[in-house]
Amino acid sequence: MRVSLLPEHCVGAGHCVLSAPEVFDQHEDDGIVLLLDTTPDAHLADAVHEAADLCPARAILVDAPGGTA
Ligand code: SF4
Repeated sequence: MRVSLLPEHCVGAGHCVLSAPEVFDQHEDDGIVLLLDTTPDAHLADAVHEAADLCPARAILVDAPGGTA
């Protein structure tokens, strides 16, 4: 799977960090999302999808090449 962000949409809600702290972090000063891993391991797929679903700003894009992850 491949993850990308639309950080300009991020409102700093932090749901992504709670869902998948291995993949997402937030800037200390403004709370804007940081992507720690653009190609997370398959075992993190559920957490990453949860983060994308919970993000109120729809700032997390998940693309699964081949449609399997
Ligand atoms: S859940 Fe969305 S809005 Fe909240 S910090 Fe993460 S990317 Fe930003």
